[in-house]
Amino acid sequence: MKKQNPRKPFRPLVQIFKLFKEKMFIKKYGLTIDRQAIKEQKPPYIVIFNHIGYDDHLIVGLTLYPQLANFMVVKYVKHTFPDGPLSYLAGSIYKDRYIPDATAVLGAKRVLTEHKGVVAISPAACYCFDGTPQYFDYSIAKLIKMFKVPVFAIKLHGMYFMHNRFRKDRQNAKIKSEVVKVFGENEMTNMPVEQIYKKLYDICDFNDFAFQEEEGFKVTAPKNDAAKGMEYIIYKCLNCGEEFEMKGEGNVLYCKKCQNAVKVNDSYHFEPLNEKSVYVDSIAKWNAIQRRLIDAETQKDDFSLSEPCEVYHYKKGKRYGIKRYGQGILTLDKNGFKYVGTDYGINTELFFELKHTPSIGVETTVGVKNKMYIVFDGNDYVTRFILKNMTKAIKFQQCLQYLRYKYYPDFEGQREWMNSRPSRIFNGRILGAKPKTDIFNKNQ
Ligand SMILES: [Zn+2]
Repeated sequence: MKKQNPRKPFRPLVQIFKLFKEKMFIKKYGLTIDRQAIKEQKPPYIVIFNHIGYDDHLIVGLTLYPQLANFMVVKYVKHTFPDGPLSYLAGSIYKDRYIPDATAVLGAKRVLTEHKGVVAISPAACYCFDGTPQYFDYSIAKLIKMFKVPVFAIKLHGMYFMHNRFRKDRQNAKIKSEVVKVFGENEMTNMPVEQIYKKLYDICDFNDFAFQEEEGFKVTAPKNDAAKGMEYIIYKCLNCGEEFEMKGEGNVLYCKKCQNAVKVNDSYHFEPLNEKSVYVDSIAKWNAIQRRLIDAETQKDDFSLSEPCEVYHYKKGKRYGIKRYGQGILTLDKNGFKYVGTDYGINTELFFELKHTPSIGVETTVGVKNKMYIVFDGNDYVTRFILKNMTKAIKFQQCLQYLRYKYYPDFEGQREWMNSRPSRIFNGRILGAKPKTDIFNKNQ
């Protein structure tokens, strides 16, 4: 008989982790857990959580303990080491990211109906860029509606400062986890999917910068290098308007073109480095400006974004590791992604249709290479692109979202709705010296 996946989570694995890590999170990062809402709840049920930082799965595990959960994780994890074997023992439900995956649905069904267990899902499927939520796919609402079990949300806070996607190590910060009830067992029966989606989105909403301001804790990088890697998120200079020329070194983020520079202070906000600094006070606000400009840029019919790249894949049937198989140019336009280059020396073209590409993963792949990848998940293999200039990866990802809102919205008015989310709005003004270029006028 074929082995049935997913397996029940292996309790000793969770216990070992709890024994060794829980104290560290409590002592060093002031972890507090409020699990009142879920205390009396017997499984089966679904838990969703907002994915902010590197350690989210661990904190969700601690929040649910002694109840164990089967996490839905991105399929390629099973090809990585040691996460592959560990995630298998933990009973992970592997899923193709961002596209419907019937095997994952069956896996979740098995956990909920046969094992009477708990399924934990992060709708965003990868951790955030700027301390505020990412767009997530509409299909999650359909999935949740299907199972007719109670749904809870674990709201995480502070995880962005502790260990975000462009850092290799943890920073000192404060973290918090709280459980809230989202839907009762039969509450979703007559609810339109759109309403379920919007409620999930709002309940997963977070703003780590607001959390930091409320709690007033300090964020300090162990090597005093809080700005290191920030150019992977902040790619546009607010003074000269140039893109992909930013660089983070030590506590300073600056533009290589015009030398505009800001300092990251110990509340993880930006402050001017000198009288010439042109800035806003957080990554979240800076990225809100970038998104607003992208929204305008992708409205143009001839929009196109390209970059030379290397291409890698995980082969089906192969256990671990990735393989480079060519190099070429990756282009995104209103039709989708196109790769023109080589495949083991032979000229080839790959095409990922916009209609079937609701999102792409942009990954730091800690432990593999300290670079960001663009990841396409598919049924046969995962294709990974390493762009020549990796600071472009986030722009590719965000442009894809706006193109999707424009050409293939999941519901009417999606673009307007997404743009009205608090984290997407920049309603302040650019601070500091008078900018050399008015980026809003130049780009809109
Ligand atoms: Zn500049």
